[in-house]
Amino acid sequence: MPELPEVEVVRRGLERWVAGRTVTEVEVLHPRAVRRHPAGGADFAARLKGQRFGVARRRGKYLWLPLAETGTSVLGHLGMSGQLLVQPEDAADEKHLRIRIRFAASDSDSVRGAAGTELRFVDQRTFGGLSLHDQTPDGLPDVIGHIARDPLDPEFDDAAFHSALRLRRTTVKRALLDQSLISGVGNIYADEALWRSRLHYDRPTATLTRPRSAELLGHVRDVMNAALEVGGTSFDSLYVNVNGESGYFDRSLDAYGREDEPCHRCGTPMRRRAWMNRSSYFCPRCQRPPRAGA
Ligand SMILES: [Zn+2]
Repeated sequence: MPELPEVEVVRRGLERWVAGRTVTEVEVLHPRAVRRHPAGGADFAARLKGQRFGVARRRGKYLWLPLAETGTSVLGHLGMSGQLLVQPEDAADEKHLRIRIRFAASDSDSVRGAAGTELRFVDQRTFGGLSLHDQTPDGLPDVIGHIARDPLDPEFDDAAFHSALRLRRTTVKRALLDQSLISGVGNIYADEALWRSRLHYDRPTATLTRPRSAELLGHVRDVMNAALEVGGTSFDSLYVNVNGESGYFDRSLDAYGREDEPCHRCGTPMRRRAWMNRSSYFCPRCQRPPRAGA
């Protein structure tokens, strides 16, 4: 799945190319792409027509386009392979084009350079899609109202995060992936931040001091910002695009996927362990497992 930095780059692209534009027509080309909109594709299209998009927002890996006047939002699920593309209207349809959104021609006055373009949702594996939702008082689509702020959110509360870690009987990697505590940290960035912090994934959170949890949060932010810098360089083109092949930017990794390769810090071969239906990669020397009963 795309991780937070990829989703943020898509959000910036939507902000640049779609905000302020008025929908004139929506074509739903595959019913699975609107399956989270229970009233169906025709209803989805009818309710969007004539609406103006506000500035795209994101929380964690969730991305949405507020409709400027109605208190509703279009929530985008990228799934495994979903892409949101801004394309010239006369560009050939992508093989896996699922939804097309056309805009009023007069919008070209307000969105520089966007004349003659449309928004396309393309998704090979159809795990993703678009759906329309009412907003919570905070302006979130109601279905994601329970999702915690992500670590790049200026209003993320570091002190509250630390307190929650101390109170919960959980382990540090579980906590990083717990969307009710902190959102947007996927398996890759969790392993990278834990490696930088020299923390084993099974470390009980109750044993983390405030400086240790602050250091961990700092590394989470660093690995995400580094990825944003890489991916952010390509966003200011016409194409709002998440790599459809892998869903990821090219990135240099210190932990994830490096089983048996030397630790970049101490040279010890990295290890992989099965962990909650996924894998955890770690250095057995830099990231010591917690002692039994610790
Ligand atoms: Zn090491």
